[in-house]
Amino acid sequence: MNASSQLPASGYCRNGIVGVYWLFSTAMEPVIVVHGGAWAIPDSLTEASIAGVKAAAQKGLSVLKSGLSALDAVEVAVRSLEDDPAFDAGYGAVLNMDGEVELDAIIMDGKTLAAGAVSSVRNITHPVTLARAVMEKTDHIMLTDRGASRFADTVGITPVPINTLVTENERREWEHYKKYAVGVKELFNSQWGHDTVGAVALDCYGNLACATSTGGIQNKMVGRVGDTPIIGSGGYADNQNGAVSCTGHGESIMKVTLARLILFHMEQGNVSREATDASLAYMGERVQGGGGAIVITPSGDWAARFTTKRMPWAVARGESLFYGLNPGDMFEEQLPK
Ligand code: ASP
Repeated sequence: MNASSQLPASGYCRNGIVGVYWLFSTAMEPVIVVHGGAWAIPDSLTEASIAGVKAAAQKGLSVLKSGLSALDAVEVAVRSLEDDPAFDAGYGAVLNMDGEVELDAIIMDGKTLAAGAVSSVRNITHPVTLARAVMEKTDHIMLTDRGASRFADTVGITPVPINTLVTENERREWEHYKKYAVGVKELFNSQWGHDTVGAVALDCYGNLACATSTGGIQNKMVGRVGDTPIIGSGGYADNQNGAVSCTGHGESIMKVTLARLILFHMEQGNVSREATDASLAYMGERVQGGGGAIVITPSGDWAARFTTKRMPWAVARGESLFYGLNPGDMFEEQLPK
């Protein structure tokens, strides 16, 4: 059993602009949910993983409370996780067969269904921000590798030297890992590092957004792209149904288009928790893949569910922070005033 909720509303956006907005429309209570990847996180990483998702959720909620959009909030939350070497995204991402990082990310706006993604970028500190630039400043949805780096330069996102994003820890893991031939599926129940990050949010204007960012899987083939930047697989957001960010075995997630499958179940009348459980169960049965997802609905209900051993997640709403790591966890803290 994992977490989900229907919590009472309290405290919305607090600036003047929102006050004006309230004259014309009903304000929603903003909510953000983040995850730090579904896999068998070793005990040595649990504290850092929980601290990372809690911090990201708090940053995202501050953005929402200041009256900015769900899109702004998921970008800020995911950037925070990309900076944190405890996670497999941005700085500290896992390394491919050649010992390099190759990063994928997606962001999606539930209001317009606009989406932006990047894949196989090696020299961008915040792939989620580049994905947003692809969404907002091009006619395309995804740019890859050198095209993405070239585009970054044109929008003021300066590429960094490739090794800047490689941590000593990941280099050591890679050296160690190279000696073993472990299948991709076993990876998700092993304690070799891989933990994609993601966020979904509802803002006080009633808009939803999602973002997901990853270094993919340890020792992957050069050029391997997983589910994360694929619209409908690693994430999807639609104001009419909900927003989802996925994590887990990318090749399985793509086969069942997990993010859209969850929303499909919600369209059929299932609540977010049931829809996510049914979709993860289907992925397990149909293609033997494990993973997890976070979901938010237009009314602010949320779910954080997984079929792997662990998945760090956190939800910030009102004055409360909820979080967990193991199946069944649901801890609550008051946010600092
Ligand atoms: N889904 C990611 C990928 O396959 C990995 C993960 O979520 O841990 O690239």
